[in-house]
Amino acid sequence: MIVGKENEKKELIKCSLCGYSFEKGKGAESSCGSCPLNYGSCHFEKCPNCGYDIP
Ligand SMILES: [Zn+2]
Repeated sequence: MIVGKENEKKELIKCSLCGYSFEKGKGAESSCGSCPLNYGSCHFEKCPNCGYDIP
């Protein structure tokens, strides 16, 4: 599922809905900061492109 350079340590997550690839944690930074329920404590990654929660 991971596309790109394997020698880089950062984890890339690919959204299964829209196919957008993003660095792990990026979605939480941009989305969960405004979420009153989870506020970064959920273990989902959120696609910054479409907002889909990836378990
Ligand atoms: Zn997406």
